Amino acid sequence: MAKLYFLDVTNRDGVQTANLGLSKLEKTMVNIYLNEIGVFQSEFGFPTTRHEAYYLQANLELAAMGVLQPIRLEGWLRAVVPDVERTFKFVPNIKHINLSISTSDQMLQGKFKGTKTQEDIVSMMVDALEAARAHGTETVGVNAEDASRTEMHFLIKFGLAAKEHGASRLRYCDTLGYDNPFTIYDSARTLAESVGIPIELHCHGDLGMAVANSLAGAKGAIDGGQDAYINTTINGIGERAGNADLIATILATTKSKTFGDKYQLGQPLDLTKAWKTSKFASYAFGVPIPINQPGVGANAFAHSSGIHADGVLKDPENYELYSFEELGRGEPDLVETGREICSGQYSGISGFSHIMGQLEVSFDDGRQAEEILELVRYANVEAQRPLVEDELLFIAKYPEITKTLLTLSP
Ligand SMILES: [Zn+2]
Repeated sequence: MAKLYFLDVTNRDGVQTANLGLSKLEKTMVNIYLNEIGVFQSEFGFPTTRHEAYYLQANLELAAMGVLQPIRLEGWLRAVVPDVERTFKFVPNIKHINLSISTSDQMLQGKFKGTKTQEDIVSMMVDALEAARAHGTETVGVNAEDASRTEMHFLIKFGLAAKEHGASRLRYCDTLGYDNPFTIYDSARTLAESVGIPIELHCHGDLGMAVANSLAGAKGAIDGGQDAYINTTINGIGERAGNADLIATILATTKSKTFGDKYQLGQPLDLTKAWKTSKFASYAFGVPIPINQPGVGANAFAHSSGIHADGVLKDPENYELYSFEELGRGEPDLVETGREICSGQYSGISGFSHIMGQLEVSFDDGRQAEEILELVRYANVEAQRPLVEDELLFIAKYPEITKTLLTLSP
């Protein structure tokens, strides 16, 4: 039976969200956390964007070193040949990419202003796909942007052309969050049966159904005989109302009534990293986690009413579907209420040594400490907020990689 995989797009859809962004070090930490959770693939950035090149190369290097393994790192670009060529100029060793192009009549008329026919769309995609494969890519996903507003017969034609030219997957983008669980089930199943390659489900939350649609679409793809790749973002951060939340979608696929019995994961996931990952993304994006967020919200395991409190104390399963321990919660959160020494772009060696000493990191000599401190200063310039422990430990452990991450040369 076909299986279910997670493909996280926080480092692409998440960071292109209005008013939000991540530094290159923060994007790297996101990849590390996704790998720890067991996410199959991270859409780790934009290889046609000059300022991403060093970051993308540094992360591919981390993959080659075994640090970012087994997660697969994949770049997103438009399905046009110049973008493919630019990608391989900036990041020659990238092995996995997704090519995106609009397929709906709305976009053909509204975005391309009628200058492109459906045939033009297919041939642009095929040309880009062939160019990418000529560069030795291992996998190429093809994205149908606004698929949910695209006529099905054209989507099938588009998908078949992609398959014929070697695409690994077809991404069904519900770009505007227009689908509901019933319609996306039908669409994904039809595509799986008619095109015959694995289907990605890319769902947005404009109507509050991103998680439900992801599940229904995955069910459709698997019932149609193909693997399903659900696209998610951490804390659901993404364009407008956001994407399917990673943790909520994992919980929904594994804990909801009977779903996990039939629709199984292609690889195990470790939810004990959920709390740490969600908190980091919240801090790095500067967006609080809603208190009623599934699994990671402040109220997700809070009970005050008499009947509920009594019930949960007698047996947690009375009022909780899953335990907080499963999500890596339960450790007290230590917040400094007295003197605090934190990292900054103007930090000096004394404060820095104090911070690193608390993390039990020691240096060979003063020169090495100065070198790491200099990298920490630069990381602070980019992030404009104190670094978290994991970031400081990363910099101390991988100074050369950090140097590459922090390189911006316009
Ligand atoms: Zn999107």
